[in-house]
Amino acid sequence: MKVTDNSFKGWDLKSRKTIALPSDLVDKLRVNLCELAAKASARDPRLSFEDVDICCDLRGRAAGHALVMRDHRHLIRLNVQACMENLDWVVNEILPHELAHVICHKENMRANHQKKLRAHGPRWRAWCRFLGASGATTHAMPLESVRKSTKYLYRLPSGEEVKVSSIRHRRMQHKGYAYLMKNGASLTRDHWVAEDDS
Ligand SMILES: [Zn+2]
Repeated sequence: MKVTDNSFKGWDLKSRKTIALPSDLVDKLRVNLCELAAKASARDPRLSFEDVDICCDLRGRAAGHALVMRDHRHLIRLNVQACMENLDWVVNEILPHELAHVICHKENMRANHQKKLRAHGPRWRAWCRFLGASGATTHAMPLESVRKSTKYLYRLPSGEEVKVSSIRHRRMQHKGYAYLMKNGASLTRDHWVAEDDS
């Protein structure tokens, strides 16, 4: 596991604008993420986190996102502003929150998706608390926009990111549908980047 500040190296994602974070801040995040991963692995030795990467490129209202990439690797994206202004909050709440999503997804994969778990359901909350966070999803996460279902992240060649519902995602991936965007571009299955389950 490594921290890539603002660089999506190897992730097929491109940051549109780069803010360099102080290196000691990135180091702190790296250490904390490794500690959380070690804690989780001690509880469940079947869990491994080599396929988990983090980066600090998120902007806007979302404090963090846990993405499942097309190749099943995981990427935790953290809000760059939150990292700079409220690092303790990011470390104590956001990192465990997002890592708990990653763990639930891994558990879900192991169970062959027999039962679709709610993003912020009891299983997620148990992991979140085990990792030291409150497990709150609203007031403790003032930056996180409320999403109730899995969305799929697509990116147009222009760099514009689009989130689509699972219905539209399935239509594009399995039935070859394309969707015409307002700007005239068409969105197709090839533009899929990741699953967004945070
Ligand atoms: Zn969440």
